Amino acid sequence: LSEALEAEAGLPCITRDGHRVPLLLNTGLAADHARALAYGAEGVGLYRTEVQFMMADRFPSELEQVNLYRQQLSAFAPREVIMRTLDIGGDKPLPYFPIEEDNPCLGWRGIRFTLDHPEIFLTQVRAMLRASEGLDNLRILLPMISSVREVEEARALIRRAWVELRQNEGLRIAKPLVGAMIEVPAAIFQIRALSERVDYLSVGSNDLTQYMLAVDRDNPRVARLYSGYHPSVLQVLAKIAADSHAARLPVSICGELAGDPAGAVLLLGMGYQNLSMNLASLPRVKAAIRRVTISQARELLARVLKCASTDQVVGHLSVFMGELG
Ligand code: PEP
Ligand code: MG
Repeated sequence: LSEALEAEAGLPCITRDGHRVPLLLNTGLAADHARALAYGAEGVGLYRTEVQFMMADRFPSELEQVNLYRQQLSAFAPREVIMRTLDIGGDKPLPYFPIEEDNPCLGWRGIRFTLDHPEIFLTQVRAMLRASEGLDNLRILLPMISSVREVEEARALIRRAWVELRQNEGLRIAKPLVGAMIEVPAAIFQIRALSERVDYLSVGSNDLTQYMLAVDRDNPRVARLYSGYHPSVLQVLAKIAADSHAARLPVSICGELAGDPAGAVLLLGMGYQNLSMNLASLPRVKAAIRRVTISQARELLARVLKCASTDQVVGHLSVFMGELG
């Protein structure tokens, strides 16, 4: 970090006109919670549980999961920690559970995999719930949701695990809030229906960009076509924020776009309630937010939403960020 950023890292994340913007941490395995808290992270917006699974040579036991989750939940308590249920498949293979598919990103991944393996899902949810006993700062997030049926099935399993732990073992666990990721284009048009079934939404702009643009997020041959600043991606992100507000559903964003200072300013203009990002991005994003007003962010957004191409959007953003200094 530069000295200037370091000096600002501990200051509150408020816009120049006094609007508070909570920043959250994206992490997996063991978070550097001391640094995240020093940077003012107000909790964990995305805990990628698959990292523990990907680094092991077999499915981690329930107890191994409880131990890791407990550490993370207590490190951040009383702040909330959003734990995403296992999101494997696609770009996140498990070495000990190979999935052979022609189109892995359109295949058996995320919630599709865990609903087909309820024993894996239930073990993980039980581990999350056990780990949260007495802390009550757990939130659960469901990845790759493309239909309400998936949410209903997942919630039924979560409820079953919760009831069993309370009735059979007498554990005193608060019912966790459950949210859905918006990262498959179909979900964009289901926000009203989702609002009757989940407590919050979190936008995964990495996969959403991949699926909107039909560009593999990890393929170097088409990497130059992959951008969260494509006008269609921005239109969709603005729509998700607007529709969530209309449905009174809290919405946040945890894709890489939120960790880019210019992206964060645009998301602020769209009305995202909080932004979740990697540790290294927290100080830079905070510095940008502290230099803008909400109306400047909205004006910038209005300008880029009129652009016809990614290049034009990026041009506007670099002028704007250059002027911010
Ligand atoms: C995303 O898709 O934007 C996201 C946050 O999840 P991941 O990068 O782990 O797929
Ligand atoms: Mg994703």
